[in-house]
Amino acid sequence: MNKASRLFCPALIIPKNAVVKQTEQLSVSQKLLTELGLVKSGSNGTYQIMPIAQRALDKCINLVQRNMQEAGGQKISLPVLTPTQLWKKTGRLDGDISEFYMVRDRSGKQFLMSPTHEEAITAMLATTAPISYRQLPLLLYQIGPKFRDELKSRFGLMRAKEFLMKDMYTFDVSKEKAELTYATVSEAYERFFRQLEVPFVKVEAATGIMGGSLSHEYHYISPVGEDTLLNCSSCGYAGNAEVFGEDATSTCPNCQSTQLNRVRGVEVAHTFLLGDKYSKPLGATYLNTSGKPETLVMGCYGIGITRIIAAALEVLSTEHELRWPTLLAPYDVCLIGPKQGSKEQVSGERIESDLLQQLTQVCGAEQLLHDDRKELTIGKRLMEAKRLGHPLTVVVGAKATQGEAPKLELHASGAETVELNITEVLERVASHVRHKQQLLQQIPSSETDVRVRQTVGHVY
Ligand SMILES: [Zn+2]
Repeated sequence: MNKASRLFCPALIIPKNAVVKQTEQLSVSQKLLTELGLVKSGSNGTYQIMPIAQRALDKCINLVQRNMQEAGGQKISLPVLTPTQLWKKTGRLDGDISEFYMVRDRSGKQFLMSPTHEEAITAMLATTAPISYRQLPLLLYQIGPKFRDELKSRFGLMRAKEFLMKDMYTFDVSKEKAELTYATVSEAYERFFRQLEVPFVKVEAATGIMGGSLSHEYHYISPVGEDTLLNCSSCGYAGNAEVFGEDATSTCPNCQSTQLNRVRGVEVAHTFLLGDKYSKPLGATYLNTSGKPETLVMGCYGIGITRIIAAALEVLSTEHELRWPTLLAPYDVCLIGPKQGSKEQVSGERIESDLLQQLTQVCGAEQLLHDDRKELTIGKRLMEAKRLGHPLTVVVGAKATQGEAPKLELHASGAETVELNITEVLERVASHVRHKQQLLQQIPSSETDVRVRQTVGHVY
């Protein structure tokens, strides 16, 4: 059982008369996460995740893994440190390297604290006994920290110097097969984003530093987003402004219409068809049907896990209250019982204790937070529960002990408070649990869109 009295949640207490010096622009999610004690700032641009936020992060990781495995992915872990020598071979150290963290070991050998792992994984395959065409496609993914020395790290977890990513790398026998894999993974991405229930946009993107031939980005629309997205209202094409070219941002590249809408987006995921940009220089091959080595054709697929949490909260929350995607909320239900020394304490506690057992049966002990801090008033605990954005908060207050049929207060995140009897409360919680199960059971659609280019501009 999760008890609020035992929770480590170092809320930021700002004295009433304090003059807060605003040194940086704060986003809604960053402000709430910090004030509520869910995330603490470490050094500039790094963050410490506290227990409540860690639960959301773990849920996000599990959901991502579920979808990657459904797409055929196998989980691995690669070292954070990649020898810079590998990046020299692919030419990626020739460009701007100001955002890379580099370290040397005692022998003077230089490493990158990897911002991404194309070189590392391709070199791993190149030094493995050649794999057969029969083993392909091969989809390998990992979830781990990534590093980027951001010039302007801001908005907390949204743009940090160290962040958590899921990165998947795929290997195929040909460009055509790689396109099929791209479609399969894209479908898993779209399923994942639908499960989060935060409106998202998929746009065509520039391939940039990654290289390759085809790329899409997934964005959450928010004024704090750093990308400009354009959407053609006549044909539906959507793209990052960078693919429209410098002076062509007024016409649609697909239908030449000038009816373009602009929005700001936070990039939360990215997919690339890489071709042989990494496998060729690093010599990663497979054995074809006649037993001859041929260069592997690659794709890579990222999801910014810490960024998704921040960006989803940014989109959903109000100025004063967090709102979570259903599947990421740290707990499903918060239960608040009577205050110590109150008139209704004794009879209220009987109901509270029955309710704890019943709720455990409906949503599971792991998803229930019992706010057992009886020294605090119901009002104070309720206010905190609302700010934390628990999907459902149940209060055993004065009305629970009056009359024949006890009434409980039920606060659903973002809705008006209602008074319900115990059966109705349990039914409401059961319906929440059913909704979660339905979201999780979104099965892949039978018609995988293999013609990747047709999915371009699919706007949700
Ligand atoms: Zn158009």
